[in-house]
Amino acid sequence: MDKRYDVIVIGAGHAGCEAAVASARLGARTLLVTSDITKIAQMSCNPSIGGVGKGQIVRELDALGGYTAKIADATTIQYRMLNRSKGPAMHSPRAQCDRELYTLEWRRVIENTENLELWQETIEELVIENGECKGIASRYEGVIKSQSVILTAGTFLRGKIHIGMQSWEGGRIDEIAVPRLSEQLEAHGIPRIRFKTGTSARIDIRSIDLEKLEAAGIDLKEHQYNKIRQGYMYILDDGGETRVRSYNYGTDSARYELTKKSGGLTARKEDIMELTKEEFDAFWEQTAGRRIEKTRYYIELEEGRVAELDIYETGRLEGRATVEVEFLEQRLADAETKARDFAKNKKPEWIGEEVTEDPTYKNQALAS
Ligand SMILES: Cc1cc2nc3c(=O)[nH]c(=O)nc-3n(C[C@H](O)[C@H](O)[C@H](O)COP(=O)(O)OP(=O)(O)OC[C@H]3O[C@@H](n4cnc5c(N)ncnc54)[C@H](O)[C@@H]3O)c2cc1C
Repeated sequence: MDKRYDVIVIGAGHAGCEAAVASARLGARTLLVTSDITKIAQMSCNPSIGGVGKGQIVRELDALGGYTAKIADATTIQYRMLNRSKGPAMHSPRAQCDRELYTLEWRRVIENTENLELWQETIEELVIENGECKGIASRYEGVIKSQSVILTAGTFLRGKIHIGMQSWEGGRIDEIAVPRLSEQLEAHGIPRIRFKTGTSARIDIRSIDLEKLEAAGIDLKEHQYNKIRQGYMYILDDGGETRVRSYNYGTDSARYELTKKSGGLTARKEDIMELTKEEFDAFWEQTAGRRIEKTRYYIELEEGRVAELDIYETGRLEGRATVEVEFLEQRLADAETKARDFAKNKKPEWIGEEVTEDPTYKNQALAS
């Protein structure tokens, strides 16, 4: 470990992770020090990102190139737009995430960020010279200097836990507070204010009659879209095909897959296999002349159906839009009845002429 950094961040919570990655990406040699590296960006209470007020902050972080929203997206279990019954200013996105995966994903991002080192230790003392912070005092490494120190200690500085009538010092449950650091800050004229947060009781799932609960459902993410690259390896006379597709190629949210389809125009059997980026690249080579690039937007319709609106971006299709609505009824006859009912009674005004049976609109035919 070096004894000199441009920036040291104390505390790998939500704020510290963003600060450290932003600093390193700006080219500053950065050290992120935290008490327990298995609890990076740990969700204290409710395993969710966003909610009233906080959802807006997460979107601002996203606009500034932060990772909280991206990692929340990658680990979301359920997504809701809260306060839909109120005006747009009150709409608040909230993602319930997989707590363990969220932590692991943040750790992956941190460990793959250039200029960023991770160190496990509880820091109890800052190095302060002439009223200026010059670094940190490590129990193991002695003084580690830096031009700036960012303190993102969350609820740990002089944290106190109250449960019922009992209370004790603590950062989070079963984690120690760091009172010495608060004392040092106070001694240098930084006043202490204590905020209160609360957490709900944990309930044993086996004690709940799940049958009596109503499923809360999932909202579609507004403005959600994927950049799609699609290339055909084989196109068969009976409409069958083998193709590769990437979603958001080369980005953190990228997904690559190989699909084999067989059957007719309206109902088809699909086998999908996930690919690595390298495998996708190798297959992509074989698809020259049979490719499509498009952006796919998702629009919520009645009965939980989703319209996939594709805007084509290359070749002779540039600028053209098609909409596909999936009818997932088990029996083909049921799906066709539903589709006819939709076309007659429920079709949004903005959907134009139906081209399902027109082979010129098949993706295979549109590829170039
Ligand atoms: C029980 C509980 C329930 C909560 N419920 C909610 C909720 O429902 N919704 C909500 O929005 N907020 C809630 N909070 C507040 C929550 O702390 C913040 O929302 C969020 O975690 C703050 O992020 P942060 O990065 O500032 O700090 P934290 O997430 O607290 O991260 C601080 C990190 O710094 C490390 N650290 C601290 N001091 C040192 C040191 N001296 N040396 C090295 N490492 C250090 C800690 O180990 C930790 O990893 C709750 C907090 C608690 C304790």
